[in-house]
Amino acid sequence: LSMLKTGVLLLERMESCNVENACYSAGLCAERTAISKAVSEGHKSFKAIAIASDLEDRFISPCGACRQFMREFGSQWDVYMSKSDGSYKLMTVEELLPSSFGPDDLRVSNNTFIITVINNKQQTNG
Ligand SMILES: [Zn+2]
Repeated sequence: LSMLKTGVLLLERMESCNVENACYSAGLCAERTAISKAVSEGHKSFKAIAIASDLEDRFISPCGACRQFMREFGSQWDVYMSKSDGSYKLMTVEELLPSSFGPDDLRVSNNTFIITVINNKQQTNG
């Protein structure tokens, strides 16, 4: 569908691909597919993920949803982003998603506020 060939290598050569869907938003990028596959096999701690594509002019980079998905498993692990010639750029999840919201933030629930939106529409009886 997107015509962009991508691939992801996640710790110990766990390979994956995009799982696309006619309804684009229902599809999954290769990064999330690889991580989901790893989690389903009992892995929750990652050292690095390598993302490859057929892009020649720039390094492939994870989309925002994948960055947030990666963040769930920590912010200090490595993301290798490559070009088709094999060159790569290395960044951490933290560098890709600074000031992120992660699982640790859920543990401070006593300090969070719930915002309630009240519908001001007047109700009529009858
Ligand atoms: Zn993505």
